[in-house]
Amino acid sequence: MFFGRNSPIESNSYLILGDKIILVDTGMRAETLIENIESVGIKMSDIDFIVNTHCHFDHIRSNKILKDAARAKIAAHKEDEPYISKADPDYTVSKYLANNLKAAKVDLALKEGDKLGDFEVIHTPGHTKGSICLLNRAQGILITGDTIFAQGFTGRTDLPGGSQEQLKTSLKKLEKFDLEKILPGHEQPVLKNANQNIENALLILESAYL
Ligand SMILES: [Zn+2]
Ligand SMILES: [Zn+2]
Repeated sequence: MFFGRNSPIESNSYLILGDKIILVDTGMRAETLIENIESVGIKMSDIDFIVNTHCHFDHIRSNKILKDAARAKIAAHKEDEPYISKADPDYTVSKYLANNLKAAKVDLALKEGDKLGDFEVIHTPGHTKGSICLLNRAQGILITGDTIFAQGFTGRTDLPGGSQEQLKTSLKKLEKFDLEKILPGHEQPVLKNANQNIENALLILESAYL
């Protein structure tokens, strides 16, 4: 697996090298991402799926260029799929920051429990309605998008489709897995004791109600 990060305000992209080659989130700079992928010896045409963790523009903005370059299917949770396919300016939040978002149709609408290579789709609404995490149970790895970051930080819940109550429920679901690593959509990964990070996030959310 390869971990790519273009800048702190942009989303991370992950390339899963397993039975299937899966690119998770396409970020903001397509050319840099393509260079990074090719620099580890992977051809764009080797990619089987492009998965979006959720509908926000900073995770999907390069979808069109990457899809055309890889000829891969784009997959996203069914709740966020319409916003991504239509590049909806409200739900992708692109109307404020990136109104030149190009639509790329989602080919595969995902649901809880779907398998993509060695990873399983976990529906974790809260940051958006169709936010997902990707879980590798055998290795205790969770790719989290903007649901949870390092140091117990969590994604915003005040944007269209967000819900703090749903986010808490989602974190309680994640807490039950036996996790070692969290690979988030921004900033640094958590490389050990990932369950502790989820417990910290829940404590922070609960204390916000005091
Ligand atoms: Zn987001
Ligand atoms: Zn983000």
